[in-house]
Amino acid sequence: LVINQTPVFAKAPTFGDKIAIIDSSGRHSYEQLYCSSYDLASRISAALNSDFGGLEGKRVAFLCANDVSYTVAQWAAWMSGGTAVPLYRKHPVAELEYIISDSQSSLLVAGHPYAEIIEPLAVKLGLPYLTLPPSSTLSTVKETDAKERKTAITDWADRPAMIIYTSGTTGRPKGVLHTHSSILAMIQCLVSEWAWTRDDVILHTLPLHHVHGIVNKLLCPLWVGATCIMLPEFQPQKVWEMLLSSRAPVVNVFMAVPTIYSKLIQYYDQHFTQAPVKEFVKAACKERIRLMVSGSAALPPSTLQQWEDITGHTLLERYGMTEIGMALSNPLKGQRIPGAVGSPLPEVEVQIVMSNSTNTTIVEGNHSWTWVHPGLEGKEGELLVRGPSVFKEYWNKPEETKEAFTQFGWFKIGDTAVYKNGVYWIRGRTSVDIIKSGGYKISALEVERHLLGHPSISDVAVVGAPDAMWGQKVTAVVQLKKGHSLNLEDLKVWGSTQEIQVW
Ligand code: ATP
Ligand code: MG
Repeated sequence: LVINQTPVFAKAPTFGDKIAIIDSSGRHSYEQLYCSSYDLASRISAALNSDFGGLEGKRVAFLCANDVSYTVAQWAAWMSGGTAVPLYRKHPVAELEYIISDSQSSLLVAGHPYAEIIEPLAVKLGLPYLTLPPSSTLSTVKETDAKERKTAITDWADRPAMIIYTSGTTGRPKGVLHTHSSILAMIQCLVSEWAWTRDDVILHTLPLHHVHGIVNKLLCPLWVGATCIMLPEFQPQKVWEMLLSSRAPVVNVFMAVPTIYSKLIQYYDQHFTQAPVKEFVKAACKERIRLMVSGSAALPPSTLQQWEDITGHTLLERYGMTEIGMALSNPLKGQRIPGAVGSPLPEVEVQIVMSNSTNTTIVEGNHSWTWVHPGLEGKEGELLVRGPSVFKEYWNKPEETKEAFTQFGWFKIGDTAVYKNGVYWIRGRTSVDIIKSGGYKISALEVERHLLGHPSISDVAVVGAPDAMWGQKVTAVVQLKKGHSLNLEDLKVWGSTQEIQVW
């Protein structure tokens, strides 16, 4: 009887009946979480006729709600030795099928509400699948023989742990492969830098197919034995209720993308109009909350200022990416500078380079780079990152992987940055083909490719137009075929038949 116990979740049983996750189905202790994961891991191993823990090199794709079932599926994949491939419930079926096929998953796991989506996909792709019981019953799983578990592996570090799909400037989304050690590096870095403890209570409202939602908001608290309150999805009213509630456990950490803060501000302006209410909001936030973080897209200084006026909290802005975890951050203690992303996190190395410059200081292959930091303060260039949290490879894409790194192992992020006044500032993408809307990375080329399939469209250019709420809004300039006409409503109807979403 063996469990592939990697450090990412190995401490869980020691937290016993401490509450790990609170969701719409109830409260789930660490012990229950561990046992439920063990249960599912046994079922996964049986379904694949594998010895327990013998799934090394196999992928398990799972589609779960934002609740305890997500962690159960993720830990079960790891316990059985497999690689976790999180699917997103709001993705069109065609996208799910693409991710399952591209990742060459061996087995599918459906959270209770998603059996209807997963079953036909499993049949179509000829894959075994398992369905989880309702999340409310997961916590009734008693101490199974998980108690007798043994730690099976010591060489966990370089084993694949998770593949997260992310849009790039070319082709379909790519699978970003992280190992147990790169994930652990992300966790340890944030836990120490932002001083996570087991007394923390975080409110979780983000999708769970991004590093922000998966690592920063879920794996970090679970690693230290803290409590994560998971909402099924973001609703401004619900978030305000939770932030202001004095019912134990009281939320003291919150993290979100800038669009969420804008929506919370909008809700506040509309609903909290009386002076005593405003005072209460500010006092409650100041007193109970110790940390509020923004990331995934640039935080407009005006949003930071408004949020500070409302809650008394200066948002801590940090900068990261699926491929590297978090790289730069404003400090927990000390001055947070509006519009800047601070300094490198522990063990992260960054540099800014200008390509094809004549003042070459670093020459690698076909590229010549000029290093502009710290020697050339104030010069804009491309940001490079190196460190233990950087991903291993793009799944099954050796060419793209090679292209993404310099000869000396620096990851080419694709963002333009500048080092000024002792901190880093992100200026934007080096490619206009990536749009960031509401913290989501969207490939302009992919949207163009879809739109070109429309019978009335002859040519199209998709760009990100500046938008106060969304950061950028996906905007298409289309040329119609002769004699054709088109309006947004028709396009939406067409989009829904194409299994793509058109907003
Ligand atoms: P993150 O939460 O950091 O976005 P993620 O996995 O969601 O993690 P991606 O969807 O891969 O990340 O997007 C990463 C890109 O988001 C970065 O390359 C950068 O362009 C942008 N980004 C993230 N944080 C910031 C920030 N604080 N300021 C400006 N841009 C940011
Ligand atoms: Mg993101």
